[in-house]
Amino acid sequence: MKILVLNCGSSSVKYQLFEMETQACLAKGMVSRIGMSGAVIQHKPHDRPEVTMSAEILDHTVAIENVVAILLSPNHGVIKDKSEIGAVGHRVVHGGERFTASCLVTPEMMIELRKLIELAPLHNPHNIRGINAAFNGLPGVPNIAVFDTAFHHKMPDYAYIYPLPYILYKKYRIRRYGFHGMNHHFVSKRAGEILGKPREELKIITAHLGNGASITAVDKGISVDTSMGFTPLEGLMMGTRCGDIDPAIILHMMGREELSLHEANTMLNKHSGLVGVSGISSDMREIQEEMDNGVKSAKLAFDMYTYRVKKYVGAYAAAMGGLDALVFSAGIGENSWQVREAVTKGLEFMGIHIDVERNKSARGKEVVISTDASKVKVLAIPANEELVIAADALEILQKGSTN
Ligand code: AMP
Repeated sequence: MKILVLNCGSSSVKYQLFEMETQACLAKGMVSRIGMSGAVIQHKPHDRPEVTMSAEILDHTVAIENVVAILLSPNHGVIKDKSEIGAVGHRVVHGGERFTASCLVTPEMMIELRKLIELAPLHNPHNIRGINAAFNGLPGVPNIAVFDTAFHHKMPDYAYIYPLPYILYKKYRIRRYGFHGMNHHFVSKRAGEILGKPREELKIITAHLGNGASITAVDKGISVDTSMGFTPLEGLMMGTRCGDIDPAIILHMMGREELSLHEANTMLNKHSGLVGVSGISSDMREIQEEMDNGVKSAKLAFDMYTYRVKKYVGAYAAAMGGLDALVFSAGIGENSWQVREAVTKGLEFMGIHIDVERNKSARGKEVVISTDASKVKVLAIPANEELVIAADALEILQKGSTN
């Protein structure tokens, strides 16, 4: 069976088509600038070069129609008939407390999903738009929703309740939800497989270090704590997001600079993190380049970034009462030996010993980067959220689960 995976943002749709028997990606691409002038489709069939096309794309429905058309096109396509697409898997950012596992999209389920927009106003509306567009563009094909929050739903209450008046949880469901769940789930499972031990016997810390970043304590296969919280703003320092700060700073700045809610939100989500501290870029490659050129603000941003990851490694090892494996994943975690080296430096007391050469050679592939004698195994494992979505979609279809 072939499964189409969609990840819909406000003005973009990322897609991948998988052949599930072999788990091969047949084609992938992205539609960007939806609803704007100069919309573009970038499309890469697995066996031919990437093509870029411009088109007028008013909304997500037109975007999905274009995706289906290009998958069918004689020159760039990889299928002959629409009916070859057996299901569509959707990345949905927030499942709240309602959706604790992937599920088949039904009219009843969509009513529940719409109620969660309040919790994720920046993400869920676009995910919902994508589901509706897939219903229109591929009538009769089952849609499956896979949630970024679901892997974290077994966290204990003392990890997910905030030390605020408890009534806020009861009234508004204000609690830690956690995100990047698909990848934390995937890489912790892969770590067990690579190490030849069931994940159920391991204490693993998974560091998803991409433009957005989060870190999770996975004890016996269960996420017992994670750094992102009510929203993806909490936790680690990120490309443009601040992560953990004293919340009183926001109140102070709103008073001093008369910031509106919108402006405060923009400052914390878009103008902070690596770009805010360095004044250079949100991109770790550029930070590292400028650090090597001796730019002090880049070095400060790098040092803060890696120090904050290190603090969480210590905290989560303590939370689990030990550690067997530490996994680095996503753009920075997979590719930056400098970040991995800086994070693990000084953690020898915990049994973490990096092999310098192994670490330097690990780039975008699965590698154990710790020494053979290291008590804690350290791994770099590339993220593959799309394959997780496709695999979940297939499982749901086979089980017939509607949640
Ligand atoms: P993602 O959101 O997973 O695509 O990750 C994006 C982040 O990965 C950006 O900050 C990139 O600078 C970073 N990244 C990608 N390749 C490298 C690399 N070779 N060295 C350092 N950072 C990298």
